[in-house]
Amino acid sequence: MAKRVYLFSSSFTEGKADMKNLLGGKGANLAEMASLGIPVPPGFTVTTEACTEYYDCGAKLSDELRAECLAALKKVEEYTKMGYGDPEKPLLVSVRSGARQSMPGMMDTVLNVGLSSKTVPGLIKKTGNDRFVWDSYRRLIMMYADVVMEKAEGIEPVDGKGIRKQLDEMLDEYKHKKGCKSDTDLTTEDLKFLAEEFKKRVKASLGKEFPDDPIEQLFGGIGAVFKSWNGKKAISYRRIENIPDDWGTAVNVQTMVFGNMGDTSATGVAFTRNPATGENKFYGEWLVNAQGEDVVAGIRTPNPLNDATKNEQNKHLHSLQEVMPETYKQLDDIRLKLESHFKDMQDIEFTIQEGILYMLQCRTGKRTGTAALVMAMDMLDEKLIDEKTAVLRVKPAQLDEVLHPIINPESEKKASVIAKGLPAGPGAACGQVVFTSEDAVKWVKDGKKVILLREETNPEDVEGMRAAIGILTARGGMTSHAALVARGWGKCCIVGAGALHVDVAGKKAKIAGSDIVIKEGDVITLNGSKGHVYQASLEMMDATENPRFKHFMTIVEKYMKMGKMGVRTNADTPADAKVARAFGAEGIGLFRTEHMFYGVGADQPLFLLRKMILSNTVEERKAALNELSPFFKKDIKATMEAMDGMPVTVRLLDPPLHEFVPQSADKQAELAKALGIKAEDIKKRGEALHESNPMMGHRGVRLGITYPEVTEMQIRAVLESAVELTKEGKHVHPEIMVPVTCDVRELDVTKKVFDKVYEEVKKAKGVDAIECKYGTMIEIPRAALLADRMAKTAEFFSFGTNDLTQMTFGFSRDDIGVFLGDYLEGKILDADPFQTVDQDGVGQLIEIAAERGRKTRPELKLGICGEQGGDPASVEFCYKLGFTYVSCSPFRVPIARLAIAHSVIKDKK
Ligand code: PEP
Ligand code: MG
Repeated sequence: MAKRVYLFSSSFTEGKADMKNLLGGKGANLAEMASLGIPVPPGFTVTTEACTEYYDCGAKLSDELRAECLAALKKVEEYTKMGYGDPEKPLLVSVRSGARQSMPGMMDTVLNVGLSSKTVPGLIKKTGNDRFVWDSYRRLIMMYADVVMEKAEGIEPVDGKGIRKQLDEMLDEYKHKKGCKSDTDLTTEDLKFLAEEFKKRVKASLGKEFPDDPIEQLFGGIGAVFKSWNGKKAISYRRIENIPDDWGTAVNVQTMVFGNMGDTSATGVAFTRNPATGENKFYGEWLVNAQGEDVVAGIRTPNPLNDATKNEQNKHLHSLQEVMPETYKQLDDIRLKLESHFKDMQDIEFTIQEGILYMLQCRTGKRTGTAALVMAMDMLDEKLIDEKTAVLRVKPAQLDEVLHPIINPESEKKASVIAKGLPAGPGAACGQVVFTSEDAVKWVKDGKKVILLREETNPEDVEGMRAAIGILTARGGMTSHAALVARGWGKCCIVGAGALHVDVAGKKAKIAGSDIVIKEGDVITLNGSKGHVYQASLEMMDATENPRFKHFMTIVEKYMKMGKMGVRTNADTPADAKVARAFGAEGIGLFRTEHMFYGVGADQPLFLLRKMILSNTVEERKAALNELSPFFKKDIKATMEAMDGMPVTVRLLDPPLHEFVPQSADKQAELAKALGIKAEDIKKRGEALHESNPMMGHRGVRLGITYPEVTEMQIRAVLESAVELTKEGKHVHPEIMVPVTCDVRELDVTKKVFDKVYEEVKKAKGVDAIECKYGTMIEIPRAALLADRMAKTAEFFSFGTNDLTQMTFGFSRDDIGVFLGDYLEGKILDADPFQTVDQDGVGQLIEIAAERGRKTRPELKLGICGEQGGDPASVEFCYKLGFTYVSCSPFRVPIARLAIAHSVIKDKK
């Protein structure tokens, strides 16, 4: 096997930033920072390939790997002039994970590795700081026992109380007994005593001594980090983020520097720009006399890094800028150096050991969609990046969040804030409160919108956080893991709302200083941009008027237009059509005619439609259709007018008819009267329409085959509208689309109706020709396979991937919710095929249909109009197949446009 271990230090570094696949993000960037002359404690990275090897060897570290680690350790000893396990000048190391893509808090870390009965006295002698040494030792025991001796060994804690919790409780009880408020109040003797007690508890609880041999500790740590790749939360996170299981993690073994050596020592986490808003201001948190885990674990509320980071919750705490101005200045210089080198916002971890600054990590920082947009545009203005990079900096899915609702400011003004926290994830969310991650998942499965309210930020809650529409915690800072994760997802999130006293068992939270209690199921609203909590359901509005967004979209448009694929919208009303146009839609790809029978103003046309459905004879039906026609035409015409100059694809009536049969007695009576028959007969006629499997029943084109007069009325409405609008000076490009076809003969029969009406309208209106295309949806596998024949009559295909997915998988699109979770969890499916095109199966059918269709008709237009048309991965797929357009709901139009711009830029690279 290739080299397994790579060194990094200020004088000799083997890795580089572009070696992330091998060294993980953390390892590659440590190497890069070391090469840039930034102070990084020396160490080495064990590769991700070594992790794969570890699993291939049955979760064992190979002899070769051990030997390479020991050789690298020797080099580190030379650089640092210390010795690992040396009682005189002991070298201690941290052992941390680092995957290719950052997975904040999802894997394990062990700090202070190398402390033993021999090195503790040596370190005390060397530092003259016995309190610090005992503090470090008790931390090692806590972390090592938890990560290496319990989790990595797969030991399931009795009563759910793991060793870490037991030791934490011992610490709390001891502090309580001694009247200490904070860990920093504990004396050397206290810590020494606790360390010994901890070791006894470890032995009693886990049946093994805490290891006193530094080498055993080192390899135990490396193996445990490898194992944490397959820990529960890491697996959950990978599933959500689509990170492949076989990547494995690298391990970074690095010389320890200590932020807990007294008041001139500290540790912190920072972002080179604000990760929530994108503002170009250094942003971060720090803690004096602490180790890194204290900041990210959300145990103590951290201090603000500088003035820009101060807010309501932390403004009374001292900033690093105030307490250590020189070190802060040095850190700020490093910030600028990193940004100009990496040309992107960096998330950094630093430690100050007795006044000396060290960088422990730097990686591209996670950010909200809003921040991604702001940073991309700012960096473009600053000439740090070019236009293409700016476009690629915003992920299509992140735009969704920019387009996310905010609380209507008017209704927010009137509401009173019940608690305040840190604005960790922007936008607003309104939902019912739940107190556990499991409940969040369960309630969401039941179709509810929930806000997950937790005591502190904890990566174990990843599933519930994902399910919830918003997250609220009582403790933790902006850089705590949960805040990072939520922000990465663009989820509304407030952390550190200190006034909340959470009682998980009682499923309630009290607000300190008031009588307010939030109970399970109560509706609350979060303003994630301000950190405000309201005990009410507040009105929401969208944030699309943002000028930054508009400017960004003009750049997106420029690149998108370099490709050949456009974006249309699925719209059923003139109002939707207008919204979509404003978002850049280039036409309507799907006008579902039946939708005019739902919602406001639909009473009369619905009544007439019912009359038509329940007609018994052709005469009755024709009479009903004549009455219905003006309504039908009015909607189509108004929509075509709104899309002046752009194509409008009108789909012939599609849904199963029984959906429109009146169910209530009074509606049945009303209809019976209109048809001049008895109410019982209406019931009977309705029952006759009943189908066992309506999705595969008398719908779509089949309806028109049986009742050509229904098709006739619709085609006439489209053609007449086209002529009339043209006469008014409008430019209309209608397209008639036949749904649910499986054979070209269905298209031919329907085309005859089209041709007949076409001639009639032409004559009646006195025109020579009417522009109107004729095409079909491809929703049935048979239609895809016989696409060469379908294209003989169809001038265009639009893939109806909702039905095509349903028919290909045999999964009911309306019932998949019942078992989808099991399929995703059991890894039978990677994603919901109704959200993203299943490229393996459904995708093959699409490819076959495109190829066969084009063989018959090279100029055949291809589009997609299923829900997947707004999904970035599906858009990319359609782009690769050379589609003419994708069509999606109005609010997803910008997302699809950005996805195309990404495809174009990547294509041209
Ligand atoms: C489809 O099946 O993908 C489609 C767009 O049609 P509908 O969702 O109306 O069945
Ligand atoms: Mg369909």
